[in-house]
Amino acid sequence: MEKKNIPGLPHLQFRNLFCIGRNYVEHAQELNNEVPSQPLVFLKPTSTIIFDSESIQIPPQSKNVHHEVELAVAIDKGGTNIPKEKALEHVGGYGIGIDVTARDIQQKAKEKGHPWTVAKGFDTFAPLSTFIKKDQVEDPQNLNLQISVNGEIRQSDSTKLMIHTVTDLIHYLSTIFTLQPGDVILTGTPKGVSAITQGDKIEASLDNGLTTISVTVD
Ligand code: MG
Repeated sequence: MEKKNIPGLPHLQFRNLFCIGRNYVEHAQELNNEVPSQPLVFLKPTSTIIFDSESIQIPPQSKNVHHEVELAVAIDKGGTNIPKEKALEHVGGYGIGIDVTARDIQQKAKEKGHPWTVAKGFDTFAPLSTFIKKDQVEDPQNLNLQISVNGEIRQSDSTKLMIHTVTDLIHYLSTIFTLQPGDVILTGTPKGVSAITQGDKIEASLDNGLTTISVTVD
């Protein structure tokens, strides 16, 4: 895949796309999942990434594709074993992302104890907004995440409700993986996930328009 620059942070190219599952209590409950005591981590390939005005492609392998709106955190300064008190110094900026999920494929994988990579990893399954620089965000744990489908709001909640904060996640991930400039963390979704189908128009907004993304579904 060609290298993609992070929109809004053009000195960075996308590296790894780390994702966190079950990081909001009411979302874990709506899918009948237990809330994990440690962050639940998975990866999406960078071929999932699309940008504003592009289209999510529904794959023929799935009959039930869901949106999950999430705060996206771009790492600007790498590191290993990053202490919590320094974690936010490693952030370059924030965006809004959609962790698109083939829920039927994920459900089968969960039942068998198989990885989620296929359910989460189809091309176009990670729409990401332009990122805003971190100094435009006073507190990453006080941001509204909102997504609408065809004008109807489906998810709208505050990052206050995260179980593991951005600080916690950067620290935790860096105890396992060396974080690198251009890594992006999708920090989990609040309640309200639902199906999307061909022809839908999806709009997501970080904190009432700090940055937004609009995509269609093909
Ligand atoms: Mg998610």
